Amino acid sequence: MKIAMIGTGYVGLVSGVCFSDFGHEVVCVDKNPEKIDMLRQGKVPIYEPGLDILMARNVEAGRLTFSDDLVSAVSDAAAVFIAVGTPTRRGDGHADLTYVMAAAREIAAALSGYTVVVTKSTVPVGTNRQLKQVIAEANPQADFDVASNPEFLREGAAIDDFMRPDRIVVGVQQDRAAEVMTEIYRPLYLRDFPILTTDLESAEMIKYAANAFLATKITFINEIAALCERTGADVKLVSKGMGLDGRIGNKFLHAGPGYGGSCFPKDTQALARIGQENGSPMQITETVIKVNDELRRRMIGKIIDMMGGHVAGKTITVLGVTFKPNTDDMREAPSLTIVPALIGAGAKLRVVDPQGRREGAERLPGVQWFDDVYKAAENADAVVILTEWNEFRALDLERLRDKMSFPALADLRNIYSAKDAERAGFLRYVSVGRADFR
Ligand code: NAD
Repeated sequence: MKIAMIGTGYVGLVSGVCFSDFGHEVVCVDKNPEKIDMLRQGKVPIYEPGLDILMARNVEAGRLTFSDDLVSAVSDAAAVFIAVGTPTRRGDGHADLTYVMAAAREIAAALSGYTVVVTKSTVPVGTNRQLKQVIAEANPQADFDVASNPEFLREGAAIDDFMRPDRIVVGVQQDRAAEVMTEIYRPLYLRDFPILTTDLESAEMIKYAANAFLATKITFINEIAALCERTGADVKLVSKGMGLDGRIGNKFLHAGPGYGGSCFPKDTQALARIGQENGSPMQITETVIKVNDELRRRMIGKIIDMMGGHVAGKTITVLGVTFKPNTDDMREAPSLTIVPALIGAGAKLRVVDPQGRREGAERLPGVQWFDDVYKAAENADAVVILTEWNEFRALDLERLRDKMSFPALADLRNIYSAKDAERAGFLRYVSVGRADFR
């Protein structure tokens, strides 16, 4: 099957590469010529473990190409996937559909023969119906159907998630569109992954409901963590005790500095907006957004309190600035609020992140970048762990303490314990929802 993938970001590139690995003939299109140049040279513009190898294999096999020529990619394709960004619209929290609709108009003009136009981008309920109208108006002769195929992959584990999904959701209006989608995902059916075929609106809603639920789960445990701090309970044990209940499950139940990333913040906001527009307010989601925002501020207070109430003139070493490990994505990362706040309070910031530097250099002006944790900790007044990269999970805490001018550790991912820190000679240690000392 010939597939055109419009947008080569985290979702589009991974999906395009994986579809080609299924055996389909895929052209990945992007309007950013630099990205296409890099891809043609065999370079991957994002950091996603394993993607370079899988991409090279399929380019080599002649099934995967990259192009800035949307017209020829679309006119040959049986299915065209839209995987462009849907960021938060400035001012009202709604998903910005500018890129999706612009792509739809370009696709409309290039359609030839029966084609399924599939939305992989996360879009509000009703968008696919609107998209159908936009394409039909732009090209009344076009023979096409629309399908909604929301993506559930996680950055950092994207290939495995795509190849072994918990489920595939396909929203369609016509059987013939469902048949094309079945054909595309057939290699996965053989491995017996459930496919849920729905109407367009339900597929669109599933994506927002799933993300809002996960954001709620994270925020719930973060709120429990705050209460643990007041009551002497240990949130790690609480979370374990809760998660062993099969009805609850242990995933997305780790206390930390609040959710971030390219999806949860924008999708919770968009769902809240969809609720308001439809006269059915999403009160739980609205509260989750508020609690998560407050949590970020609480984390800043936690660091400053640990350092005696003021950080002016002090040196703080931050470990990890990407929103989670194994990605270079910094969209809505907790670091983007916490680091500037500490700089604003007069601290000097040093940063170590295995993949965050390229994007971070622009987003975090005024910080000093280091490759080595121990060098970055030399004469520092505090070390703050913001992202749980493997590189930070087995630090030699004694060696770290020796380098520092004052041994204080804020472990906002609960990697270590008060006991570990005390044993290593730290004088102050704070974490989230557990015993601290200072
Ligand atoms: P991204 O910003 O990384 O990539 C979008 C790409 O689309 C960019 O390279 C951009 O240049 C390109 N583009 C925009 N308009 C175009 C056009 N008209 N023609 C060709 N290319 C165009 O975005 P992303 O993180 O991959 O997210 C894409 C969508 O998938 C979003 O709706 C997002 O909510 C959803 N999603 C993302 C994730 C994730 O983990 N990132 C997971 C599930 C779903």
